[in-house]
Amino acid sequence: MSGITTIGVIGAGTMGNGIAHTAVRYGFRVILHDIAQSFLDRALSTIAKNLDREVAKNKITADNKNAALSRITAVTQNSALSEADFVIEAVLEDVETKSGVFEGMDRIARPSVILASNTSSISITKIASKTKRPDKVIGMHFMNPVPVMPLVEVVRGLATSDETYRVTKELAESLGKTAVEVNDFPGFVSNRVLMPMINEAVYCVMEGVGTAEAVDSIMKLGMNHPMGPLALADLIGLDVCLDIMDVLHSGLGDSKYRPCPLLRKMVDAGHLGRKSGRGFYRY
Ligand code: NAD
Repeated sequence: MSGITTIGVIGAGTMGNGIAHTAVRYGFRVILHDIAQSFLDRALSTIAKNLDREVAKNKITADNKNAALSRITAVTQNSALSEADFVIEAVLEDVETKSGVFEGMDRIARPSVILASNTSSISITKIASKTKRPDKVIGMHFMNPVPVMPLVEVVRGLATSDETYRVTKELAESLGKTAVEVNDFPGFVSNRVLMPMINEAVYCVMEGVGTAEAVDSIMKLGMNHPMGPLALADLIGLDVCLDIMDVLHSGLGDSKYRPCPLLRKMVDAGHLGRKSGRGFYRY
């Protein structure tokens, strides 16, 4: 292995706490950074609760849980990330915020350290250009919920070196994941395939081809999908789906990626899915 024992995780939200959970579960030390203590406290309690679930299922012991938690250092100062051997960024999906984080990490992390981003749709090549080490910048796209989902889509930017890819793939495997290599294009592979399917499902509802329930039933019973595309859209957040369709549309310039007007209308109405209590379904 490449001598990685401490992983820096930036952003302690949904994905950041899942990545930190997985890393300490597999024996790594984690320095978890967010901008406010309240976000860190919430993340630590979520991780403890999720580890409790694993104890209840006899996947780990209570001692394993306590040892895992003790491997997390939660910090509001990003300077503490100078101790990290590998950094994974999971802050909100905003190009300005991510650019600032990468500029800062380029100054703080040792020059040999790889800086990975968990972005779902922002260009790795662009983020890498904010640093003096573009060869050591890579996408590490975990799926939600991180402790459960086996995939990491490893995204190579234009300048990402073979060595950076090799170390990142090995790290993903040390976290119990399967790494799949892709190149940096809008939406990578996961969202380039998933989001147009969701978008088309919304067109089916808008054009009256079928109800949301009908569309989801057809995809579940006929295509063996564990969840219908519209229920999945509600889970992901309709605003997130719209943002990613906009990235595909502007980045690839093909009208086949135009966001469905009904999707935009629902976002305008604040019907964002589960998080707002209403999307294609009510919660
Ligand atoms: P989230 O909103 O739950 O968490 C983001 C966290 O980043 C917040 O706690 C926020 O305080 C923190 N943050 C903001 N600016 C920061 C800064 N400058 N420094 C440190 N921390 C900062 O978001 P999320 O859903 O966890 O998404 C994080 C990333 O993961 C995004 O790029 C998203 O596209 C990607 N992603 C999300 C999912 C998903 O299903 N939620 C799946 C795959 C990838």
